[in-house]
Amino acid sequence: MYRLFLLPFFAFLCLSCFREVPAQWESVLGTVCGVNLFEGGTKAEYDAVFAEFRRVEGIMAFTPASSGPKGEGATALDLINQNAGIRPVQAPEELLDVLERACYYAELSAGAFDPTVGPLVRLWGIGGESPRLPSAAGIQEALDLVDWKDLLIDRKAGTAFLRRRGQALDLGAIAKGYAADRAAAIIREKTGLPGVFRLPVKRRAIIDLGGNIFALGERRGRKNWRIGIQDPLRERGVYLGVLELKDKSVVTSGVYERVFEEGGRRYHHILSTRDGYPVWNGLLSVTIIADSSTDADALSTAAFALGLEKGLALVESLPDTEAIFVREDRAVVVSSGTLFKLLDDGDYRLVSVTAP
Ligand code: ADP
Ligand code: MG
Repeated sequence: MYRLFLLPFFAFLCLSCFREVPAQWESVLGTVCGVNLFEGGTKAEYDAVFAEFRRVEGIMAFTPASSGPKGEGATALDLINQNAGIRPVQAPEELLDVLERACYYAELSAGAFDPTVGPLVRLWGIGGESPRLPSAAGIQEALDLVDWKDLLIDRKAGTAFLRRRGQALDLGAIAKGYAADRAAAIIREKTGLPGVFRLPVKRRAIIDLGGNIFALGERRGRKNWRIGIQDPLRERGVYLGVLELKDKSVVTSGVYERVFEEGGRRYHHILSTRDGYPVWNGLLSVTIIADSSTDADALSTAAFALGLEKGLALVESLPDTEAIFVREDRAVVVSSGTLFKLLDDGDYRLVSVTAP
């Protein structure tokens, strides 16, 4: 009886899996990006999504090394940086959109998140092959150049301009989110199953740009997606808890990404715009859950840099935005409205906060 019931079900599953292409992984945007389009995925669609990642990278990547004397290999962002203090530069509209969004979060976080952090990122060699501990004088000099208020965006002229020579934009804390949103938009546009019948189905997909996740739609059976939250103190893929959600982006910023050691100390990649050193405020990671991945990405960095108290207050002030803060003392603080469960075997403890 049980089997008789299951058989047609599996036959249907196989039909709907017709021409399904397995999940795809590629190295792009400075990280390993994975996309799973499940039953709707065709090769053409995977190709379109990864081409979009490369296109966004070609506009927004911060690539001081690849921009040669003639600017070859330079992205639109690099061109703005090369012309800092010289002249405004024409920029694609979407770059101006992301820059404006970045300035919005710079303002909300009182500059803790700052897209003009470029000189500091360069000095520390973050994301490069040889990160290093800079001199205190070098840090001060770079820090003096960090100020998002020196970024002038002229929508009419379609230009962006950094006021002072040596200033530089770095969108490392927001561009992956934008790329995830672009991928989600491409997938949402296509609502039918591929093939002759083009059955209308609600799309679902998992887009994962190195921990910057968009969980599109819902799991089969109208279920929530279950997203593992990385234990910041353990190897990659070991989770401290599981988050349940539908159709949301989940982005984590933590001390475990792009880390290097020097003189027995560990340094990570989220820099304080106050003192120019990696932010040490008792936090190990901040995860943001929001509808837009661009927002979640910027906010995860902003909330991390702000610290637990101010970061949480910022998150609670925003609609439809939730957060998980992991502290060094193993307290996990979750905002109201988060469907999050710690895994039993871990040594973290949960602190839930209710809306003010
Ligand atoms: P990940 O790159 O691991 O996803 P984040 O989204 O937190 O992590 O972004 C960190 C990156 O953002 C850094 O590698 C650097 O390029 C840039 N960055 C570092 N500090 C700041 C800051 N205070 N404000 C804005 N961007 C920052
Ligand atoms: Mg970020």
